[in-house]
Amino acid sequence: MQHVNSYYAASANEHAPWPQLNDNIRCDVCVVGGGYTGLSTALFLVEAGFDVVLLEASRIGFGASGRNGGQIVNSYSRDIGVIESRYGQDTARMLGSMMFEGGDIIRSRIEQYQIDCDYRPGGIFAALNKRQLAELRAQKADWERYGHQQLEELDAGQIRQEVETEAYVGALLDHRGGHIHPLNLALGEAEPFASSAGVSSSSRRSPTSSMGIRRRW
Ligand SMILES: Cc1cc2nc3c(=O)[nH]c(=O)nc-3n(C[C@H](O)[C@H](O)[C@H](O)COP(=O)(O)OP(=O)(O)OC[C@H]3O[C@@H](n4cnc5c(N)ncnc54)[C@H](O)[C@@H]3O)c2cc1C
Repeated sequence: MQHVNSYYAASANEHAPWPQLNDNIRCDVCVVGGGYTGLSTALFLVEAGFDVVLLEASRIGFGASGRNGGQIVNSYSRDIGVIESRYGQDTARMLGSMMFEGGDIIRSRIEQYQIDCDYRPGGIFAALNKRQLAELRAQKADWERYGHQQLEELDAGQIRQEVETEAYVGALLDHRGGHIHPLNLALGEAEPFASSAGVSSSSRRSPTSSMGIRRRW
């Protein structure tokens, strides 16, 4: 099965075909699904010394991981101020301290495995009007109370230097945000399995999958 047609699929890095699982095999942990969740889990496990098999039914990055916006955003689906008011300061502090972990894991994987996925640092939250800009300022103050000191306010002139439009009255620039080519990140995270001398290419088709890749370090 091919990746769904998209810019990302059209600009995906070349990679060798993955081995199919055609045998009964044993391993310490079998991870099902070659998206970010499965790939990252499998990488952590092999780095910890486990014998891991990753099964993917279609292709690495076939699901949301190969088709998303590629934004590395240090936030949650609710603002930290909302989390604080609803669940208290202790929970907000705990979640605030976890906020950077995802982005840091992505950056460290890119560096460690030399993943070619067009990583660009920085992310912008742009305001179309003064009300939105005031909300962004309030969010910045909330985040700063929980340790996020890398948000910079941009005025109308500064945002114009970042994006060539007069649509915005200002913005927040998150220096710890970023952007990646999502499918190439997934393919790059799978590469350490493929390039390993320990890869097993033996196999028999499993009920749920057409591919298995294996690694033990
Ligand atoms: C339109 C869109 C935009 C997004 N933008 C962003 C963004 O900018 N930034 C961000 O951080 N997040 C974004 N997300 C969210 C992010 O993409 C997902 O949270 C993430 O990709 C989920 O990864 P996953 O591995 O859990 O799932 P998936 O990537 O969906 O992977 C699941 C994999 O499991 C495989 N599978 C399913 N069943 C089986 C089976 N029985 N056997 C074997 N394999 C199986 C599938 O083929 C698939 O490859 C976006 C999501 C969408 C949909």
